[in-house]
Amino acid sequence: MKFGTKVIHAGVEPDPTTGAVMTPIYQTSTYAQEAPGKHKGFEYARTQNPTRTVLENNLAALENGTAGICFGSGLAAMDAILKLLNPGDEIISTNDLYGGSYRLMVRVYERYGIKAHFIDLSDTRKLEKKINKNTKLIWMETPTNPMLNIIDIKAVCEVAQKHKIWTCVDNTFASPYLQTPLDLGADIVLHSATKYLGGHSDVVLGALIVKDEKLAEELYFLQNASGAVPGPQDCFLVLRGIKTLHLRVERACKNAKKIAKFLQSHPKTKNVYYPGFKEHPGHEIAKAQMRDYGGMVSFDLVRDTFEDAIRVLSGTKVFTLAESLGGVESLIGHPASMTHASIPKPERLKVGLTDSLIRLSVGVEDVDDLIADLEEALVNL
Ligand SMILES: *Cc1c(COP(=O)(O)O)cnc(C)c1O
Repeated sequence: MKFGTKVIHAGVEPDPTTGAVMTPIYQTSTYAQEAPGKHKGFEYARTQNPTRTVLENNLAALENGTAGICFGSGLAAMDAILKLLNPGDEIISTNDLYGGSYRLMVRVYERYGIKAHFIDLSDTRKLEKKINKNTKLIWMETPTNPMLNIIDIKAVCEVAQKHKIWTCVDNTFASPYLQTPLDLGADIVLHSATKYLGGHSDVVLGALIVKDEKLAEELYFLQNASGAVPGPQDCFLVLRGIKTLHLRVERACKNAKKIAKFLQSHPKTKNVYYPGFKEHPGHEIAKAQMRDYGGMVSFDLVRDTFEDAIRVLSGTKVFTLAESLGGVESLIGHPASMTHASIPKPERLKVGLTDSLIRLSVGVEDVDDLIADLEEALVNL
């Protein structure tokens, strides 16, 4: 099955009891048993819910995995991965990543004796040097947030496999339409389905997808044991969003390309970060491992100040000033004060996350209106 068919049909069958074409929302906490222990595969809704099962099977198919495991949020999904580790274990992570992922590793899991090292994973030699006998997990995000750096997933996974280290790719920014990390050797794919998969900014949900049966079993165990599961209505919303994933991401990519070009030629901006540009250092890798370059664009202002950034951010009308990304509507954000406020300033400056850096999540509106909106916000600087 091709991708555009899978989003609509993979794992989705008409409901066996009524023939309902769309997966029903099984809003129940428990299921009647015919006799003690004799049931239809559903006992209690933390453990199994039919709406969730359909979503999990659909996601497994989209990422070319064998199992999907859903959680109440992207960070709850990440929490389950970190619970695979033991005190003394170490993580090597990209140094340019989602602020909440950094916070979970440093401020929560360090207390349990798990140490995370943050390095530039676009250089695999640095990775080899950092690996030691305690390294258990390598954490990638590509394109990275918000600098849109590209990590060579295959190259990192080859190093990891040599040392028998798990690899996880946070595939939230790309979505499975653009990139399928399991095919490149990754062990686990993580999604904040809150973003492109849901696609309409109306739900918070997270998911893991794996190929390995034993890993799937351990993650299902943690899903049930810790209990951070999503509700059936949220699973329904993500399933519904996924049906148009390919159409939405295709259009967002097209719009982002035009907007990146517009910004690059604008006199008030500098350093436009967009992996589709030939001069982007990760362009060739992006071209090889992605189907297109995504809907995210970041840029600096010529006068690199908080004040100028705030003027642009409060000057747009079509772009909404908000955290998050991946919805049908375009969003504009200021990582230094919003999504990445939990990362100390010296840390963020090291990766180029300046005071004026602005991040766009380009939606699926008419691109002419989006460009006119940015033009109007920039003209006053
Ligand atoms: C939003 C996001 C997360 C966290 O997901 P939630 O659903 O908000 O918990 C993780 N990684 C990336 C790249 C994100 O954008």
